Parts: sequence; structure tokens; C-alpha cells
Amino acid sequence: MQGGTYRLKLHVRAAVRRYGTGRVAAVLAAIPILSVTLVLAGCYTFRDRTPDIVDRDVEPAPKVQYDRMVRVRLLGRRAQKSVQLAVSSGFKIKSFTRRDEVLAQRKQALATCDAVATADGGLLFGDLAVPAGDILIHPERDAAITVNGKTYRGLLRVLVDDGKLTVTNHVDLESYLKGVLRGELPRHFHPESFKAQCVAARTYVLYQMRIAPKERSFDVYDNEGSQMYIGVLGEGDKALAAVEQTAGEVCVYPSDRGDVLFCTYYSSACGGRSQHVNNVKPNDPDPPPLAGGVVCNDCYLARFYEWEPVRITKAELTERIVKRYPTVKSIGMIRSLRPKEIEDGGHIVRIQMNGANGTNETLIGEDFRLSVGGRTLKSTNFKIREEDDAFVFEEGRGFGHGIGLCQNGMETKALRGQDYKAILRTYYPGCEVVRIY
Ligand SMILES: [Zn+2]
Repeated sequence: MQGGTYRLKLHVRAAVRRYGTGRVAAVLAAIPILSVTLVLAGCYTFRDRTPDIVDRDVEPAPKVQYDRMVRVRLLGRRAQKSVQLAVSSGFKIKSFTRRDEVLAQRKQALATCDAVATADGGLLFGDLAVPAGDILIHPERDAAITVNGKTYRGLLRVLVDDGKLTVTNHVDLESYLKGVLRGELPRHFHPESFKAQCVAARTYVLYQMRIAPKERSFDVYDNEGSQMYIGVLGEGDKALAAVEQTAGEVCVYPSDRGDVLFCTYYSSACGGRSQHVNNVKPNDPDPPPLAGGVVCNDCYLARFYEWEPVRITKAELTERIVKRYPTVKSIGMIRSLRPKEIEDGGHIVRIQMNGANGTNETLIGEDFRLSVGGRTLKSTNFKIREEDDAFVFEEGRGFGHGIGLCQNGMETKALRGQDYKAILRTYYPGCEVVRIY
């Protein structure tokens, strides 16, 4: 809108230069009178006609802006044998490798059908066969594509890989964020929490887009491996307002090289103190905002600030660890556990597993936790008690890895009247919120 007003001003100035102020003023004065006449005439002319059916809520086809386009891998890491697909408007199917080649086109919607690979490497969408195994579906309207019951904005890439399908949503960054916030935050959270989460989520995904290896076909997963993304389903009032009110804003930290984007990690409840990024991700860069040690007295209301003891048999624990780290099998059944490094806030950084064979293996605490189950062991902040055939993890505190922003602490701060920028500066010390587009 602002661009339109600016262009109008330029036209008026040019007209004044050409025709003189008097004539231009007369023309401008005539515009309202002319408009009213036209509207009245329009009412008269079209009053008795059946109006054209125009659905004002329908948004036009999504435009692809490649510098702001997020590639979200849907349905997890594994390729699928078939995917349930529907398109609620007309659409084109284009070749992904030869961008302008239209392989199929339909004026009508595509009813829910199973998308499968064909024997010759092509794709079949219900009764619609496409002679290519790497395609991009362009709907005529936005928010028209539904995959396994969830509706998404933007476009959909379907790729056949070894007879199975991977599906990736190509979506504008701001639209993507609308589908992330409700996936990450409870509905009742404060509007300032939504804004802080939005800026953190925008920064996180931009960072991931920059570091994604060239050969990879996506930037983020739609699950906890990256950020929970639930598509159009997530677009409540608070989420939409937060995205609009913080449009283009990200967290950076100032350095000799200028403002640097960093990976804005966040978790549900830090349990009292955030931890250093390298405790969990030893190979990640460690900018000052991720140095940890932020004392958080504000997540004590969180459901899992303190969690109930968890009992797991030694056999079960061994099985879960070996499933993720097959080499651990060589030490035999895990007989005892010894935290080798505990950071000041209480998170176990490294844990040694002693096996029945008399040998041992050591894992990063967070990797150990995720192998056992991220919802079973809510954090790496716990004590271990040994029973004959089981381990009891007790005095557990916090939920998630505890790096960066603490979502429950953020909510308490928002309720106390802090604005989103102050909250972000607290949990990412030294960071600044800047607008980049
Ligand atoms: Zn906290």
C-alpha cells in the first residue's frame, strides 16, 4: 500500500510539472465527484443482475520468492510409500528440474487421493499420471494443498526416491511462521510471548536456511527436530498478530564482522539456569548469546519444572541406547551409569555407561536422554539411583535441552509486563533485535 501511495505522489508531481498546478488541481478535485457518480451508476446498472460469485477470502496463488522461501520437509525423515493428497483449487504440476515445463494442469480441484510412485519412476495422483518423479505442485490459490489431513500454504514438491515419496512444502518465510507458533506455544500464552517466540523462530529458520548443505532438498523438518510446523491449522489470532507485528525482525549479535545471525535455540523449561550450547552441540558455533548461565527464576510454574521419578529396567535402557548407537552393543548390558561432567545448573553434560563386559562408552548427556526418549527423560538435569535390575532417574528438573530461550520463563516475564525485545535480550545475552526486510 505504501508503495502505491508513493507512486501516486510521483505521478501527481510529474503531472504538475507538465500541465501546471491549476489544471492538475482541477482534475484532482473532480475525482471524488466522478467516483460517486460511477458508484451510483454501478449500483443502478448492476442492481438487478445476478452478481458474479467472488469469494473475498480466497487468496491468490502463492508467489515464490526464492530468497525468503523455506523448504519444510513434511512427514519426518523416512520416505513414504504413499501420501494422501488433496488440492482445493485448480493447479499446475511442473517439473522441478525444468522449472517452466508444465507436466499436467487442471482447472478443478483434486479430491483426496493417494499419491504413489509408478513402476517407471513417475507419479500417480489418483487418476492423474505424471511422467516425472520430481515435481512441484502450483495451486491457483494459497492454502490449497492438504497432505495427510494437514493444509499448507505455498507449493509442494513431491520427489520419488527409490520407489518412495518425500514431500517438501515450499512456503514463504512469514507464512511458515504463522504455522509454527501454535505448534510451539500453548494457545493461552501472552501476546508478547508469541512475539518473542516469533522472532526466535524466524531467526532459527533463517539460520538453518543459510547453513543447509547445497545438496539437501530441504531446510527444516516439520517436527521437534527443527520447529513444530502445523500449517494453516496453527494460524490463530495471536500467531497472525505476532508475525505481522514483528515482520522481518531477527536476533543478531554485533561483532567485528557486523551483525551476525545465530541459531536461536529454545526449549520448554530450563529448570532454573540455561546451559552452554556446546554442552549439547559440541560442533556448533558458540556466540555470546548461547553461552548459557542465564539464571531463570521464572519457569518454576511450568508443568515439568520438577518431574516425577522415572524407572527404566537396565535391559530396556540398553535396548533403547543400542537402537540409536549400535556400537554400544559391544559393552554388553548397561550395569551402571556415571555422570562424567555436570554443568553448574545441574545438566549432565557427559555420561559414562559401564557394561557387563567390563568396558564402557560415553555419550553426550542430551544424546543419552533423546535415546532413552525425550518425553520419558524430560531433561538431562536429574540424579540417578540404581536398583538391582533398573535405573531410577529422580529429582528431574526442566523440560528440553535448556539452551537459549526458556519458553515458560518467557511467559512469566511477559505476564509481568516485559516486552518481547527485553525477553529476548535476557535469554540471549548480548543480542539485538533488528529488522532485515
Ligand atoms: Zn527457565
